[in-house]
Amino acid sequence: MSRATSARREVLAQPGGDEAVASGDPGDVVAGGSRVGASGDAGVGGGGHPAGAAVQAVAGGVGGAARPVDPVADPAELADEARLRPRRLEEFIGQAQLTEHLHIVIEAARRRQQAVDHLLFVGPPGLGKTSLAGIVAAEMGVGLRVTSGPALARAGDLAAILTDLQAGDVLFVDEIHRLPRPVEEVLYPAMEDFQLDILIGKGPTARSIRLDLPRFTLVGATTRTGLLTGPLRDRFGFVGRLDLYGPDDLQRIVLRSAAILGVDVDDDGAWEIARRSRGTPRIANRLLRRVRDFVEVRADGVVTAERAAEGLELFGVDQLGLDKVDRAILDALCRRFGGGPVGLTTLAQCVGEEAGTVEDAYEPYLLQQGLLQRTPRGRLATAGAFAHLGLDPVDPLRPEDVTPSLW
Ligand code: ADP
Repeated sequence: MSRATSARREVLAQPGGDEAVASGDPGDVVAGGSRVGASGDAGVGGGGHPAGAAVQAVAGGVGGAARPVDPVADPAELADEARLRPRRLEEFIGQAQLTEHLHIVIEAARRRQQAVDHLLFVGPPGLGKTSLAGIVAAEMGVGLRVTSGPALARAGDLAAILTDLQAGDVLFVDEIHRLPRPVEEVLYPAMEDFQLDILIGKGPTARSIRLDLPRFTLVGATTRTGLLTGPLRDRFGFVGRLDLYGPDDLQRIVLRSAAILGVDVDDDGAWEIARRSRGTPRIANRLLRRVRDFVEVRADGVVTAERAAEGLELFGVDQLGLDKVDRAILDALCRRFGGGPVGLTTLAQCVGEEAGTVEDAYEPYLLQQGLLQRTPRGRLATAGAFAHLGLDPVDPLRPEDVTPSLW
């Protein structure tokens, strides 16, 4: 075997390459424009949530391993998730503005008979980014490949996937901000010119060859656009932001999931689950499953508001959807620091978590609930936080409390 040939094989067949393509079997990826229902969907579910690696650290802190309100999927629930995923745009509940924009982008591409522009979905875990990638593929009638930033350790891993794409396919890269730099650089010409530059050989004999790729759609997902490098961000034609869901939308999601899972839940029961779900469909679905177990064992299997509340209290999820880690954060802020301000790192240390984990996994919901404020001087507990813990909000030791006009 010539040196060049062996080098090429090394580039294109990195051991990680196959694993990186979560849908694996090319049978999952649709050929000829018609979508294969069940196996195509499995491709989405099978992609899993490598985001877990980043945010799963949450489980290591005060919360313990099974956090009912963790927005990141537990590997054991991936099969259930695949069943519950909305498959078409019309099934996707909420995020009205985003779905309207997406509808236009998809429809325009369909009329032009072109691949959809590269799309970036931004938002916390569990809000539907992976589902939307699957929806784009389904609406376009093309195949879907699922991978993630951390799974693409080497340029060859990405090259293996790119050279295997069919025209029009959607390539979903979860946690795209975690792509290693050399891999990201392979992506630039692939996204812009549909070309792949491969370096063959090493040292002075190395040479670069350029391969043409089919036109494909890259769908990236990330928690914050700020985590992406400028050049990567600029190569997306459309950026869609997903916001936390309101309880009305979550109630509809719970009712839809209950119908799919065959759970008997009334409107009030669905509402009770929805309002404890932290604005996150994945959590709503998980809480629904816990409540289903609860009512099957302790009642007649019907989910009412009262039973949902009872079941969720049992699993440590309070009325606002806070678990013990959230309450530990608020407790540290209110009791130990008299409401703050306190720096993020100090706060994170108090609850045994990484600062980034507190910032990404806990704070968004506490902020949204008006329990915590971010200020240049640090984190502050609001009166709502004191009230939620049953504490008196006025602390005479805090000058800010008696002279609020100071800041
Ligand atoms: P992300 O990729 O942002 O982590 P997913 O797309 O994997 O989120 O969604 C997690 C689960 O939440 C899915 O299995 C799906 O059942 C549910 N889900 C998310 N968004 C919606 C929605 N808008 N309507 C119905 N279900 C949803």
